[in-house]
Parts: sequence; structure tokens; C-alpha cells
Amino acid sequence: MTPDPDDDARFMALALALSREGLGQTWPNPSVGAVVVRQSATGPVIVGQGVTQAGGRPHGEAMALAEAGDAAAAATLYVALEPCSYSSIRGGTPCVERSLKAGITRVVSAIEDQNPRIAGLGHALLRSAGIRVDVGLMATEAARLHRGHFRRVREGLPSVTFKVARTADGYAGGPGRERVAISCAEAGLWVHRQRSEYDAIMAGIETVLADDPQLNVRLPGLEWRSPVRVVLDTRLRMPATIVLAKTARDIPTWVIAADDAPTTHEAALVAAGVEVMRVGRGSDGHLDLRAALTLLATRGITRVFSEGGPTVGEQLALQGLADEVIVSTSPVVLGQEGITAVRPALGALLAEGRRFALARQEMIGHDSFAFYERID
Ligand SMILES: [Zn+2]
Repeated sequence: MTPDPDDDARFMALALALSREGLGQTWPNPSVGAVVVRQSATGPVIVGQGVTQAGGRPHGEAMALAEAGDAAAAATLYVALEPCSYSSIRGGTPCVERSLKAGITRVVSAIEDQNPRIAGLGHALLRSAGIRVDVGLMATEAARLHRGHFRRVREGLPSVTFKVARTADGYAGGPGRERVAISCAEAGLWVHRQRSEYDAIMAGIETVLADDPQLNVRLPGLEWRSPVRVVLDTRLRMPATIVLAKTARDIPTWVIAADDAPTTHEAALVAAGVEVMRVGRGSDGHLDLRAALTLLATRGITRVFSEGGPTVGEQLALQGLADEVIVSTSPVVLGQEGITAVRPALGALLAEGRRFALARQEMIGHDSFAFYERID
């Protein structure tokens, strides 16, 4: 029977939406949505759907197939990423094997996994077992959803999104790091929603010392989705008296300092539940950002949301470590010299259009958001 392209598009869109639901929860594994669809006399019927569970297991296919049960026989599996072909050290039956056992006869897969241990093997195994496999439906959107996973398995780095809010006259803060209410309420809610889709939120120590932020998700019902909080703190200046340290037992809080940073605050931070890690310094004397991100990737982090302040943001982009730069501009006018939100080198990089492309612009409340994506 010839598959209906409209049905395929509809069910793949659902699998991708399920994937998005799991973002931020499944690291070190990708968040994979899966939908099992069976043909009936009246048309296709969804008999199972699922997404990778918190911590990365069970996988989305396993959830969807379990829900489908016997109804998976002769059904089609729509999946947002190539099904896995091997058992990890954490065990579990590979999704390829599960699909075969369940009696799936067709697999529609959005994209091949870039994990070198799979990289087409999942699709090949399915095909060699006589399953029809169609690959590539909505691949661009799937690649965006799996960007963190792909970067980690391919390059040993997480995917990084840098976000900065600025006033109409271009400032991220007042003189002397004075705090200014820049974003509108809707934009604030949007930031919390974003945070919930990342594995880690990263901020620089200057921001942390100036604002004493919580860096968590404060949306009713979504508080549990707060990601790991990462503070870049070259000289390990973070005191144990600030909010991040005081709440470190509730939300994992990691501080990355330089190898040679003083140990003055370390014992108090560790006693509060903060994890202190160290990496080398870059040629500019600041933390080696690539080394810091590599460390996060080895800990399983795939997606980082950086609210790290203009200096860190500029460096992330210049060093080719940022995949996305989001600049929001509010109608608020500071009216005096403050902290420049988009520093000159970053501004030039975004304007020049070779390494970043303006993907879209939208209004959120009163604020105008520009989304720039790295050109690979
Ligand atoms: Zn799997």
C-alpha cells in the first residue's frame, strides 16, 4: 500500500513535537519522539506514542512500542531520529531490535544519527530485516532539535545558545552593572520556557555577583525542569552566601574555575553542595571556554543556554562555540552610557552574514527578538 504523504507529514510533525517536549530532560541522550500508526479500515490510527524519558531511558521508540503493544504488528513507526542499533553500557534492548520484535513493517525516520556508533547502522539493520525505511522527512527541523546531541557525539562539545537582552539604545545594564528592568513580562516568561528546554544554564561570575540570580525555571508546573546551573568563575570568587550556592542542593550548581584559582571559597561552596571544577586559561587570561564546554560535554551536557553576559557571549561567537545568538531589544531607553549588550566584534559577526544568518525575527510582548543561527 502506498503511504499517504500528508499522513506521513502529520505523524512526523507529532514525533518532532514529542522530541521537543523532552529537550533538557534526557541528557546525555537525545530526546527522541516516536509514534506508532496502524492502518485501519477507516484510515490511520495512532496506537502508541512516546518520548525518551528523563535521564535518557527508556528511549522514545520503547515508550511508543510499549503503549502500542500487539497493535504494533504491521504498523508504521515514525521516529524523530534513527533508531539505536546497539546496547549501551546502561543496557536495554536496542530500538531496532524492539521494532523488529514488535512486528513494525515500515519506519519513517527524520534523520540519520550522527553518533559514530550508529551513523546509518540502525536504518541498515532495519532494511536488512525487510523493513521499508524512509529517511529524511523534516530532516532540517530534526537536525535543529538534535543539534546538541549531534555536536556532542561529533565534536565533544555541547550546542550553545547565547541570549542577551538590550535596551532600545543598546545596553544590557546600567553603569557599574546597575540592574535595569529591560525585558517585558512576556519576554521574561519566554526566557523561562527556553531555560526548561536546555540541559544547563550558563552565566558569568560578574552577572552572578551583580544580580544574585536564581537561574531556574519559574513557570508554574515547570519548576522541576530547572537545568543544571553553570557559573564561569575564573578566579573562583563566588561566595557561598549567594542564592545559587544556597539552593545548590535543590538544583545542581557547577562552578568552573581556572586551574590556578584561589581556593578561598572552595570549601564553603562544596559544603553547600556546589560542585567546583577547573580548566585552564585561554590566551586572554580568562577561562578557556572551549575547555569549559568540553568538560560539560564529558559530563553529558548537550544543550547550554548562556545568559553569561556580553563578554562571554562575544567570545562564544568569535571562537565558533555558539550555535545560536538571540538578541532581544526592548522599547526601554537607558538614556546614559551603560554596558553594551552586543559588543562590536559580535555585532560585526552578526551583521556580516557569513558565520551567522538571521533565521527569524518576532515580537514577544513589547520586545523584538532576533534569532541568528550559525551557518555550518
Ligand atoms: Zn533507542
